[in-house]
Amino acid sequence: MRSQPSAELSKHPGSSGNVTAGDGASLETALHAERAQRKKDLATSLRIFGKLGFSHGAIGHMTARDPVRPELFWVNPYRRAFATIMPEDLLLADARGSVVEGSGILNGPAYLIHARIHEARPDVVSAAHAHSPAGVAWSSTGRLLDPISQDSCALFERQAIYREFGGIIDNDAEATAVAEHLGEQPFLILQNHGILTAAPTVRAAFWWFVNMDRSCRVQLLAESSRHGPVLIPQAIARRTASVALDLGFADECFEALADEWT
Ligand SMILES: [Zn+2]
Repeated sequence: MRSQPSAELSKHPGSSGNVTAGDGASLETALHAERAQRKKDLATSLRIFGKLGFSHGAIGHMTARDPVRPELFWVNPYRRAFATIMPEDLLLADARGSVVEGSGILNGPAYLIHARIHEARPDVVSAAHAHSPAGVAWSSTGRLLDPISQDSCALFERQAIYREFGGIIDNDAEATAVAEHLGEQPFLILQNHGILTAAPTVRAAFWWFVNMDRSCRVQLLAESSRHGPVLIPQAIARRTASVALDLGFADECFEALADEWT
């Protein structure tokens, strides 16, 4: 595993927990504090997802890489409503699908997809995937999202698409293909399936998913109008994306939604 937890801590101290390893605390103490913060942020994100209507029965999963053991990740248990998840409900899983800590059922597609992404992308602390209605509807178009609003500029030149829908992802080869299609991007459209985000903090994976879902909904609405949307020029979309993906901004949006929904 190539992840470097201490580097992650120093790069994004405010966005995944106000913890640094150089303030006199031992590295181990800092890593355990970061673990608690990531679990708290992950549970909060899932509860808000539930309240925003992103859950669909037992479907959907979000993970956070464990800073103490970076080859493992925390994930919501299968068959538990997003809106009820608390930090103590989360499962700690390994890449082979074993539950290392916590009690509950580990969803097969959850560990397959997320394990391959966390392995392939040491920069990814968190990944989110759900079958939100707008995300699924947009995914069925087989198109990338266009820069038609300030919000959707966040995805400009940062999204990928996986076109090979082959049913429920239940094998390692397909999960690996999903991770390969994501590549270095933060946004993935799974054609005829849904959407996925991957980010260097839990809060960014959360906020980017919320914004991606909103962008799907807005483009579906705009394209249903008589005139259709006008595209934002590429240079402006590119400049806007770099601001929209700021991790501090993701923190602020996470906190605003947490104030509203939890
Ligand atoms: Zn899915």
